[in-house]
Amino acid sequence: MNDYHMHTYRCKHAQGDVEDYAQVALKRGLKVMGVSDHTPLPDDWEPEIRMDITELPGYVETIEKAKEKFKQLTILKGLECEYQKKYYGYFHDELLGKWDFDYLALGQHVFYCDGEWVCFWKGMKGYKELRTYTEYTVMGIESGLFDYLAHPDCFGSFYETWDEEAKSCAKYIIEAAQAYNMPLEINCSGFRKGEIDTIQGSRYKYPLEHFWEMAAQYNVRTLINSDAHRPEELTVGVEKAQDIVKRYNLVLADMAYLTEK
Ligand SMILES: [Zn+2]
Ligand SMILES: [Zn+2]
Repeated sequence: MNDYHMHTYRCKHAQGDVEDYAQVALKRGLKVMGVSDHTPLPDDWEPEIRMDITELPGYVETIEKAKEKFKQLTILKGLECEYQKKYYGYFHDELLGKWDFDYLALGQHVFYCDGEWVCFWKGMKGYKELRTYTEYTVMGIESGLFDYLAHPDCFGSFYETWDEEAKSCAKYIIEAAQAYNMPLEINCSGFRKGEIDTIQGSRYKYPLEHFWEMAAQYNVRTLINSDAHRPEELTVGVEKAQDIVKRYNLVLADMAYLTEK
């Protein structure tokens, strides 16, 4: 089993550091462990959910040390990033270039809509926010910088109904993923957040069954990640994600190229 999505204490809403994750990863039989904390940004945008830019060298060093120490485990150096065009050079030249990250994941947690910044996990929102989330996400996919799309269906936490608008946005994201060969993540942290009641019945905020049912109709690949924010959360919820894969006959992505780079 492999897991390419986990966070350290540096992002201010997670616990544990790389070695703590590595110890749990070994106990739970992981072969590859990709550390993907929320990226620092040069302008410290939304600083409360990410490490400070000055913590980047320490983060890199901690992962490099763990790579040396835990030889039985393949540890990858990653970051989860929100996309904006102005960060292209930073992601490309600094993170992938200078700091030699093994991979970057796209996770659009915040986006600019109607004059304000919107966080996907805060409250219910309407069609405009759904459309804006989708546009940012597709822009990120098109940038070619990222190796997978984290929780593509996280809009389910702020947009309640599976209606024509939701279908059209889901379709746009899935079609972009197909065109750019970008794996879509079934994110287990959604299961851990519990169910919500909607007018269409109770469901997880994400993963969204309807989203994956639609994805199965396209030539897209998926991967299952825990999105652990504490070491003990590694692999928790994976069986539920595997059920989705089976239910809709989804194709799993081969991420081996990341370890061969
Ligand atoms: Zn987080
Ligand atoms: Zn995320």
